[in-house]
Amino acid sequence: MKHSPVANIEFIKQVNTASVYRLIDEQKQISRVDLAKLSELAPASITKMTRQLMAAGLIKEVAQQASTGGRPAISLTCEIDPFIFLSCKLGRNNLTIALHDIAGTKLTDYRVALDSDPNNDVVPFLLAQITDFISANINPDKQHLIAIAVTSPGLIDRESGTIVYLPKHNLKDIPLAKLLTEEFNVPAYIANHTQALSLAELYFGAAQDCQDSVLLSVHDGVGSGIINNGKIFTNYNNQVGEIGHIRIDPLGLPCHCGSHGCLETIASNEAILKQIKGLIKQGHETCLSPENLTIEAICTAANNGDELAVQVLLRVSKLLGQAIAIIVNLFNPQKVLIKGEIVAAKALIFPMIEHTVQQHALGSFVPNLVINEAKFQNEPSMAGVALVRKALLEGSLLNYIIHEHDA
Ligand SMILES: [Zn+2]
Repeated sequence: MKHSPVANIEFIKQVNTASVYRLIDEQKQISRVDLAKLSELAPASITKMTRQLMAAGLIKEVAQQASTGGRPAISLTCEIDPFIFLSCKLGRNNLTIALHDIAGTKLTDYRVALDSDPNNDVVPFLLAQITDFISANINPDKQHLIAIAVTSPGLIDRESGTIVYLPKHNLKDIPLAKLLTEEFNVPAYIANHTQALSLAELYFGAAQDCQDSVLLSVHDGVGSGIINNGKIFTNYNNQVGEIGHIRIDPLGLPCHCGSHGCLETIASNEAILKQIKGLIKQGHETCLSPENLTIEAICTAANNGDELAVQVLLRVSKLLGQAIAIIVNLFNPQKVLIKGEIVAAKALIFPMIEHTVQQHALGSFVPNLVINEAKFQNEPSMAGVALVRKALLEGSLLNYIIHEHDA
């Protein structure tokens, strides 16, 4: 991208201000002198930037008693009130809307079932639900809405804020971020849910200590979010890491993608339920009943030694391990995190996954690899929280808040 000289200066200012804000956020409390040292920016610039951040209410001064006694030193710290944002997950069957403060803490949330009729337009429903949520939960005198994030499955162009393709809700080329900004007059961020969740693990979860990680999500399908050098790995086509469609069994069941034997046909929740039901029908002994069968019940049965549940989950883990080995060979991550209800049988599944990865992945990539459960198993709004965090720390959202104050 080519900037004009003036635009360039503005952009550099934005990046520098963001790095100052990031340092204050990381250090919790820091003096202007230390800020200048750590940021390697001139003390005069620090004075100017911190004044701007303070005027916008994003940081405040606190007195910190010097260890040598005497006059308390003045430190800077990030301000949380009154900034809040919405994080929504537009799922296949449910919509979750959550209210978070600028630090990411959840204040309240709300969940509603989505109409299963794909001909009913989900976008007006989403906008109406957000409107209702705002009037029920936000006090405009005390709270200041700074952003709205929406994550969903499907193909999403983060840069342009467009839902490119979301077959479950019959959505194609919907400029959702633009619609949200027009309706609610705040910046809006949208992304694929699993990709955004992998960023949440990096910022707040189990991947905070690494630069390269992979989140594998086992749900109705099997998906992945890849973090490479601290950033979501993506490309021009916006769609990468379709681990669910790695062919694991060439003679396997047909997949909705048109192929056969994809990982998703064996290792997704839907596929696991189908396998167990089929085996019960064939007369295999188990404590499980085919009625109201859930992944939770299967994991409990497996944990209690039910042979059928154990065997099915071991096979699933082995095939997940084979697919993970391919990802490991391609990306050599420091961590692979697994999200999904099957994690309830972790004592059974992790040893099998690790064993299979050891057998199938490149020997030199395995010794330092950690395979573990993801932190955010049941907190869908954390995906959107990560998107807002990214916009704040990289400067665009920070810039919006500062200039909104100027206006
Ligand atoms: Zn497939």
